[in-house]
Amino acid sequence: MLRYTTFLILSLFLTGCGEEGGTVNDAESLAAAIKAAQPGDVIKLANGTYNGLEVIFTGVGTTDAPITLTVEEKGQVFLEGQSFLQMSGEHLKVEGLVFRNGFTPVSEVISFRTGKEDICNNCRVTECVIDNYNPAERFDSDLWVALYGKNNRFDHNLLTGKRNQGVTLAVRLDTEASRENFHQIDHNYFGHRPVLGSNGGESLRIGTSHYCESNSNTLVTSNYFYRCDGEVEIISNKSGQNIYQGNTFFESKGTLTIRHGNEVTIKNNFFFGNGVENTGGIRIINAKQTVVNNYAEGLTGYRFRSALTVMNGVPNSPLNRYVQVTDSEASNNVFIDCDNIQFCVGSDEERSAVPENCKVADNVFVNRKPGKIFSVFDDISGITFTGNLLSPGIEPLQTEGFTTREIELEEAANSVEIPLNTTAGDSVRAGIPAMATPENTGVSWYPRPQEELFFGGGKVIEVQAGTNTLWEAAKNAGTGDIIRLTESGEYLQTKSLDLTHPIIVEAAPGLTEKPVLLFEKTTLFNIENGGGLTLRGVKVDGRECNDRPLNAVVRTSRYSMIRNYKLFIEDCDFVDLNINHSFNVLQVFKNTMADSIVLRNSSFRNITGSVLALDKETDDIGVYNAENVVVENCLFDDIGQAAIVLHRGGSDESTLGPRITVDHCTFDEIGSDKKWNKSGAAIRLHGVQLAQIHNSIFDDSAPFQLHLVVGEPVVMLKNTVFSGGTKLEDNGEPYRTENLLLGAPEPLTKMADGTAIGTKLSE
Ligand code: CA
Repeated sequence: MLRYTTFLILSLFLTGCGEEGGTVNDAESLAAAIKAAQPGDVIKLANGTYNGLEVIFTGVGTTDAPITLTVEEKGQVFLEGQSFLQMSGEHLKVEGLVFRNGFTPVSEVISFRTGKEDICNNCRVTECVIDNYNPAERFDSDLWVALYGKNNRFDHNLLTGKRNQGVTLAVRLDTEASRENFHQIDHNYFGHRPVLGSNGGESLRIGTSHYCESNSNTLVTSNYFYRCDGEVEIISNKSGQNIYQGNTFFESKGTLTIRHGNEVTIKNNFFFGNGVENTGGIRIINAKQTVVNNYAEGLTGYRFRSALTVMNGVPNSPLNRYVQVTDSEASNNVFIDCDNIQFCVGSDEERSAVPENCKVADNVFVNRKPGKIFSVFDDISGITFTGNLLSPGIEPLQTEGFTTREIELEEAANSVEIPLNTTAGDSVRAGIPAMATPENTGVSWYPRPQEELFFGGGKVIEVQAGTNTLWEAAKNAGTGDIIRLTESGEYLQTKSLDLTHPIIVEAAPGLTEKPVLLFEKTTLFNIENGGGLTLRGVKVDGRECNDRPLNAVVRTSRYSMIRNYKLFIEDCDFVDLNINHSFNVLQVFKNTMADSIVLRNSSFRNITGSVLALDKETDDIGVYNAENVVVENCLFDDIGQAAIVLHRGGSDESTLGPRITVDHCTFDEIGSDKKWNKSGAAIRLHGVQLAQIHNSIFDDSAPFQLHLVVGEPVVMLKNTVFSGGTKLEDNGEPYRTENLLLGAPEPLTKMADGTAIGTKLSE
């Protein structure tokens, strides 16, 4: 009897509390356990880190007895290197896997198939994590998760930090066996997805244009989208009869887009823009769409990223273009402090089919800032407006169907503000219990991804003048550290500084003269993948550089950068970058992307190259080198090549960048190097989506070149003077100007060294 009891306890221990399958700790034992698995078995991956584990999970379980692949302890099992999961069969369940520190060598990280015909039905992936699992090349495309088959569930997973091209989670309909699938995607946490600067940055896509006439019948409910900024579509719906309900979009720069497919329902979703630029809501295309009971707050986007966008279509549209919006409604939605509601967006010669038999009813629009929120780009007679309420101060779209009155707001749970005594408010309130929050989505046992630390927050490292003192400090600096130059004088670097995390280099306060940075190598700072730089209060002098062409003060990695970088230059002087030709302030390379480049209160004099030449993406496929460029209070004097070039080619409309602002700047003798200034311009903007050139002066310079090519770019030239032979060259596309002076006589005000460089003209 005693012997029998011991045996029983031992076997319970070995097989994990009576279930077959057992604990495995390498690829061989895992494969053997999978092969032997019977319905009801539970296979556990032992705690530890697995490098390059290829999990091929096949089997047939039953509704009551699925085959489960799980982990010994959640949060203690990591799949790294080139690991991936493929599964096929029936009633399989996977939970607890964490993919990190690597990338998938195949097309997907988690795939609901093991071959074209070998797919999953009635399977579930829950509580898995994919964290920054990216290849080194930003345009090597992959999917993190791909659903095939039918009746599968993907829930309570955490997907964060996708930085390369390719959708985060895709539902594929490419075989009959994957259509009308009734998948459920719920309670997942989609973490930060940075701007990709190209198509292919969607967080979720259901279908493709190829199969968009098929129904998918996927339910997407109670998912949380945190700063999903990859491209204009946070979600790209490309199939029919899908339902989006209870999802929350937090400060995400895009929209839930019904790109293709009919009979889609979008109800009781929550959009929080909090005033962040380019945040959007819902974009409607195609037929029989239902957009009801949604809540949107603080969305600032326009055009494709408006709080509500109703598109124009293409008559007899091919599958991959824009089907006319017909028989659709947007009702009982609440919009609070949203900047734009736009109809017939995209109207042009091709997109000439206006909405037909549509209804916009009983929506509530409350704005605390008075103004215009409605824009109409074509004939809206095919839309019936009824019962919409506006708070005072909002300019009505039309009299019919809009009533203005005071609307009282009540703060409900999760910061939702309910307009009292409105049907829309009541409908939104009814959706709050199913609303996604950071707490009820993703997994509880894996650290919630932190926002990226960018500049500051680190320690201060003090440095004195001398040779390589800065280099030594930078070598030991951590993320966000501040290297402070404590005295005026010369800081000579004989080696380049490779930055793999963001640092600040700044002059100590109170110095009478700016510290001078000198360098001997081709570059002073190399922003490598993960790096970033703030340069503040210093003078950079090129006189000690090698006598070779193509020197640069700052350059990006020569290789693909998966992480976007930031470069801030404030209160700095750049002088005599003229050792040889084509000496640039910033030299970028292909497959690199600046999130932001800001030049402020700085001067650039006697430079043979460019200050910012952001023109290395020359494939003309909608890709570009910088999302936001801001140049304020700067003086450019005697620059051999174009001071600023910003290039985005092609006809793709997936991005709202690049964007540039130039304000209170003076450009004098720019672009005079006939041999090396290939663009022949002083500034050249090509395919830029938002350009604001204000309060600036161009004198004795090459032309200002403007090439407006795609996506209704917004260009505003205001209070700007072109004199001394400088002229504006454009490609004839419309742009707006105000108080533009061409060839005005000598209005240029020369700036004193080191002082603020405002050149404000009369407004
Ligand atoms: Ca897209």
